[in-house]
Amino acid sequence: MPRVATPKAATNPKVGFVSLGCPKALVDSERILTQLRAEGYAIVPSYDAADLVVVNTCGFIDAAVDESLEAIGEAMAENGKVIVTGCLGARSGLIRERFPDVLSISGPQDYESVMRAVHQQLPPEHDPFLDLVPPQGIKLTPRHYAYLKISEGCNHRCSFCIIPSLRGDLVSRPIDEVLVEAEKLVKAGVREILVVSQDTSAYGVDLKYAPRNWRGEERQTRFLDLAKALGELGVWVRMHYVYPYPHVDAVIPLMAEGKLLPYLDIPFQHSNPRVLKLMKRPASGERNIERIRAWRAMCPELTIRSTFIVGFPGETEAEFEELLDFLDEAQLDRVGAFAYSPVGGASANALPDPVPEEVKQERLARFMDKQAAISAARLESRIGGVEKVLVDEVGPSVAIARSRSDAPEIDGRVHVKLAKGRRKAAIGTPERPLPKPGEFIEVRIIGADEHDLHAEWIQPA
Ligand code: SF4
Repeated sequence: MPRVATPKAATNPKVGFVSLGCPKALVDSERILTQLRAEGYAIVPSYDAADLVVVNTCGFIDAAVDESLEAIGEAMAENGKVIVTGCLGARSGLIRERFPDVLSISGPQDYESVMRAVHQQLPPEHDPFLDLVPPQGIKLTPRHYAYLKISEGCNHRCSFCIIPSLRGDLVSRPIDEVLVEAEKLVKAGVREILVVSQDTSAYGVDLKYAPRNWRGEERQTRFLDLAKALGELGVWVRMHYVYPYPHVDAVIPLMAEGKLLPYLDIPFQHSNPRVLKLMKRPASGERNIERIRAWRAMCPELTIRSTFIVGFPGETEAEFEELLDFLDEAQLDRVGAFAYSPVGGASANALPDPVPEEVKQERLARFMDKQAAISAARLESRIGGVEKVLVDEVGPSVAIARSRSDAPEIDGRVHVKLAKGRRKAAIGTPERPLPKPGEFIEVRIIGADEHDLHAEWIQPA
């Protein structure tokens, strides 16, 4: 079986992968492997070690058909749980006749069917403390966006987190490897790349920012170089899990220039310096409010998403109120919050003065009330504006799209009325076709609620 790079994860479900065929089939394989890895599956190089095997087939000439059937037969004999995809998958009758027990058959570029079959056989267990991809994201990732994982592990030791003990210290992927994968994703039709890791701004520290070559130029394995290079690919690039270190300031101009989406996902977790110290948070000493103001001055369109923990052991009422004041000042766009709950093995479990459960819940409700009003006001301020959005789904009269401010699954959506634009276009001109998922279109924002925007379609972007 051909070997593929293996991120180590001893307890994760394991998938074996056999890739046959031409470069286009290879891009399909890369795409499926990327998705599997982003969702936490381990890719293993032997039939014995695999919980199931995916065979990406070729059906171009008879010899390729024979080779593909042979590969399926070998995987069935050696492992027994086999998902078939690729060009020969288009001739499913032929495969079923020979191998009635294969788990699923799909044609080329049908990543969604492969992932669906993998999820059915080998459901990934979502752990909100560990997973980078949201639970809904594992159901189906449409082909027009993809997660790009740039590193594993983390060098920090936040007291509520067990990732470093499970996944180890930061291990970055060299920049050329990441960029080649990103290029392949774009070639395969991806229009939005979501950069994920445990600490995106620390990217490359472990490799001492090793220089590599990409497109004939030297690039260092570091956050800024990665951001610049991804900005050359001509697709949306969204940065997740960035910490507010001073060097992050340098990517904001790229956002202002439209090279990267003006979007930062920064898990602040709290604002009070004493609580942040108890949490052992990275960059906790930075003056976050001033930094946010400076970023917004450089890039007024910037959307900031964050997460917070309320009721951390020892958090006083005054410290919690300071957090509410921070929300007022920071005017963040999107916020998720959790009442603190101990995670087995985390050092925070030993901290004194746990906050009683009812107080945690009461603080969480106050926090969410305040932020809901802020988020709603920020959305409302966009009414009347014209924005470029990426279409996710299309119905007969409404399309579901996302704006620069909306990461898939975790943020809001833009409900786009299609009918008005179509009627207008019908006067004197042929009715224009409906947009397709994965297309950029231009819309006018006409309404907002707590999470979502409502818009009307103007034209293709
Ligand atoms: S930065 Fe902190 S919370 Fe994030 S993975 Fe590292 S240790 Fe965990």
